[in-house]
Amino acid sequence: MHDRWGFNTKAIHGAGGTHALKAVSPPIYETTTFRYDTVEEGAALGVDRGEGYYYTRWGNPTTAALEERVALLEGGEMAIATGSGMGAISTVILGLLRTGDHLVAPRATYQAAHELFAQILPRYGIEATLIDTVDVEAYEAALRPQTRILYIETPNNPLLDITDIAGVVRLAHGHGALAVADNTFASPYNQNPLVLGADVVVHSATKYLGGHADVTAGIMVGRRDLLLALRPHFRIHGPVLDPFAAWLVLRGIKTLGLRMERHNANALTLARALAAHPKVERVHYPGLPEHPGHRIAHRQMRGFGGMLSVEVTGGIAAGARVVEALRTALLAVSLGSVETLVTHPASTTSVGIPAADRARAGIREGLIRVSVGIEDVEDLVDDFTHALQAA
Ligand code: PLP
Repeated sequence: MHDRWGFNTKAIHGAGGTHALKAVSPPIYETTTFRYDTVEEGAALGVDRGEGYYYTRWGNPTTAALEERVALLEGGEMAIATGSGMGAISTVILGLLRTGDHLVAPRATYQAAHELFAQILPRYGIEATLIDTVDVEAYEAALRPQTRILYIETPNNPLLDITDIAGVVRLAHGHGALAVADNTFASPYNQNPLVLGADVVVHSATKYLGGHADVTAGIMVGRRDLLLALRPHFRIHGPVLDPFAAWLVLRGIKTLGLRMERHNANALTLARALAAHPKVERVHYPGLPEHPGHRIAHRQMRGFGGMLSVEVTGGIAAGARVVEALRTALLAVSLGSVETLVTHPASTTSVGIPAADRARAGIREGLIRVSVGIEDVEDLVDDFTHALQAA
């Protein structure tokens, strides 16, 4: 029956069924270990045979409920939840690649993923080509016989560039490689890369899935054979999600559809208002028809998401003045929560990158990244309009 359910019904009810004692809210199994009655039973559980649980780093019923829910919403066969988004990304990348392999990824990905590709992988004899544009042609030009993963992040950070997921998937599969997508910015409500053919999707569940800036979590979801191959790596690297944190993400997911509708609507309204402001040079939002990725985003996304970035006139000092003048939006890293969060990359998150490299990555000095929350949109428009006077 759940196959025919809409997104919100699936987000709330999962695949149906009841919890222990017919509890409406799932129980939190805050335990590290599980008793078994015979040594044979324990030995079987340790190698994933038989019914039941063994040790929370192996698996936990609360975490399993979250994994099933995300697999259902993303259209995946299996999922493994992790203690952070980077826990999921590191496990997928290090678990699927081996010495001699090659990966292609955009230069502009989430910073820690970028560091994994550029600094950690070479230490294991794995090469990464980081491409400056995110179109299929750029991926194709970077292919090598050893290419094993094409890594996608769309919309990406901080310019909201859009990649044609189905196009990169076709390229990857034609080359005998895998397509791995970070779907954090879009959320499973707005976009399902697995349905477009991707092999594995990763999320920072810290963002929209949790949704309230109160839990750090991650998840990988996709083909069962790949997830089963990743499971031993996950257990050895050990980025385990605490069961209570799993429960918080599961609770957040119940309102994901509602929240995303509001994030999508607020971001579009704010993007339009900012685009019309005299102190604004440019707004990057895939929902605006002038955004270069608008057509592809329209095809592959259900909504354009809650993330946008805006270039204010006056360079680095003006950007800093504007973010400090905001009264409703909060100056804080991270994204995807109910509060509007703002960062100014040139003076904070990307301050360690030389100005020339920032420019190469398209991070202009006056660029402000906004994770548009679900507040009343008039208050957000007022806040930004007022703050822009400080530019
Ligand atoms: N992927 C994206 C797109 C992100 O923005 C982030 C964090 O900001 C991550 C992954 C990493 O997630 P976490 O902080 O949960 O490790």
